[in-house]
Amino acid sequence: MKTSLEDTLLAAIRTIPDYPKPGILFRDITTLLGNARAFRRAVDELVHPYAGTKIDKIAGIEARGFILGGAIAHQLSAGFIPIRKKGKLPHDTVRVAYSLEYGVDEMEMHKDAVKEGEKVILVDDLIATGGTAEGATRLLRQMGADIVAACFVIDLPDLGGRAKLEALGVEVRTLIA
Ligand code: AMP
Repeated sequence: MKTSLEDTLLAAIRTIPDYPKPGILFRDITTLLGNARAFRRAVDELVHPYAGTKIDKIAGIEARGFILGGAIAHQLSAGFIPIRKKGKLPHDTVRVAYSLEYGVDEMEMHKDAVKEGEKVILVDDLIATGGTAEGATRLLRQMGADIVAACFVIDLPDLGGRAKLEALGVEVRTLIA
């Protein structure tokens, strides 16, 4: 029997209670990444709407967005842009503050990572409140990127991240909730 994509992905993701803090259910995708079939199916499903579309760059959010984003970039013959926590990128950067569940942090992108009008897909493993993806959206748009979509394996719908990105005019694609 063929297992549905949703069943395959749900079975491949491990949930760790109370990590990194009490009360948080951490959705650990390292088990999905270590499962060749689940990893391939997740990447295939995220890329398939864009097959045959010209995508210039995939922007991955540190750190799990790098792994998924790298695989997606390869599949779509696109370049890759790392969006990193502050202080990690060696050349001239643009920086943005973004909100976390408690407090704020800053993320950066190289100024020359994207050119005006380039078509970009933003990638991360999971969207929760959407604060991280919203920050990345602001950075990319500041440098003139045309964000075609933001893609995530997991959506935590109760936290409102999808609605936050959609309100910014970003198309959101997720595989499981
Ligand atoms: P947010 O900015 O609230 O949408 O949070 C998304 C970022 O935090 C992503 O980079 C996720 O990897 C991480 N994250 C937030 N909540 C969780 C969770 N419950 N399990 C795993 N990662 C999470």
